[in-house]
Amino acid sequence: MVVGVPKEIKKDENRVALTPAGAAELVQAGHRVVVEQGAGAGSGMADEEYRAAGATLVPTHADVFAEADLIIKVKEPVEPEFNLFRPGQILFTYLHLAATEPVTRALLQRRVTGVAYETMQEPNGALPLLTPMSEVAGRMSVQVGAQFLEEIHGGRGVLLGGVPGVPPAEVVVLGAGTVGSNAARIALGMGAHVTIMDKRVDRLRYLEDVLTGNRITVVANQQTVDRAVRYADLVIGAVLVPGARAPRLVGEETVKGMKPGAVIVDVAVDQGGCIETVDHPTTHSDPVYVKHGVVHYAVANMPGAVPRTSTLALTNATLPYAVELARKGVRQAVAEDPVLAGGVNVIDGHVTHAAVAEAHDMEY
Ligand code: NAD
Repeated sequence: MVVGVPKEIKKDENRVALTPAGAAELVQAGHRVVVEQGAGAGSGMADEEYRAAGATLVPTHADVFAEADLIIKVKEPVEPEFNLFRPGQILFTYLHLAATEPVTRALLQRRVTGVAYETMQEPNGALPLLTPMSEVAGRMSVQVGAQFLEEIHGGRGVLLGGVPGVPPAEVVVLGAGTVGSNAARIALGMGAHVTIMDKRVDRLRYLEDVLTGNRITVVANQQTVDRAVRYADLVIGAVLVPGARAPRLVGEETVKGMKPGAVIVDVAVDQGGCIETVDHPTTHSDPVYVKHGVVHYAVANMPGAVPRTSTLALTNATLPYAVELARKGVRQAVAEDPVLAGGVNVIDGHVTHAAVAEAHDMEY
């Protein structure tokens, strides 16, 4: 099969869907790998590395689409890419089709098979191609929180770990899933006092077992959350109800009661945010705003700030599936792998995912 890797052209997207090591694995398996020149540059992966791995470098985006049977990307296609698709091509990427009708229609019209990273699900409910980005965002949330707690960045001038004789910062993590547990791990590593809150006691029990350091776990309800947040220097929002808007755990009155210069990092902003005063996403170029004296960070694509780590983390998870698709073709691959089957959103001009059909009132 010919596997194509275009450069991402969506604004601020510096990740790439295949590393040179991944290209080498596909080439060794007998496939031809076609990579657009400069595709890996944003992640610090040079053209020469892809060439050394056995890939063919091509000068334009259109060249990749013209040659490839399987296109591996990071983000959903954008308009200039719509007309480059050929019928029968397989597209393996984050698609989020339920959120975008034009992309759905373009793929249906061009009879592309769209396999979406985000709808692939393991039998235990885990989302293997979303987890790595939650790990990145969770770990990064404490790093940015520590930065904005600095006085020069508008924070209350508190060092996360304190020093001997001076207590550490109070970090409250709302949600003990992938983002929350990774945030807690980093905050504890930096010496903060960490309160981890979730509705699920089993999850808190597990984290209390595996995390060491200055931590407590508390079941989240309106009273416990309100009390913890008012006392916090840094609040990390990390809750998720799959398929739904993020639940609002912290109301505006509670934010008004927080310490001046405290910091909120609402990682759940991509699902609408779990703090009432987080009413819009921010960007890497303008990441924070101040409301009621509290610094709010609400960047919806946090992994974009660390594209090299994010590319490596993402491709570690995607490559085995890309290899499967290239080796077997889409029909045999999905017949043999239910996780991959869950990723198929459109095929041969038909919608094959209920949420996508429902979102756009289409036949399923
Ligand atoms: P997850 O499913 O692993 O964890 C979510 C946790 O929230 C679960 O443990 C759940 O029990 C808990 N929860 C749900 N409702 C709750 C409530 N009412 N009170 C207390 N706890 C509650 O999800 P995750 O992978 O950690 O993702 C968390 C959020 O971060 C998601 O919205 C995800 O989309 C987002 N995210 C954002 C970025 C970004 O760049 N901003 C990157 C990755 C993930």
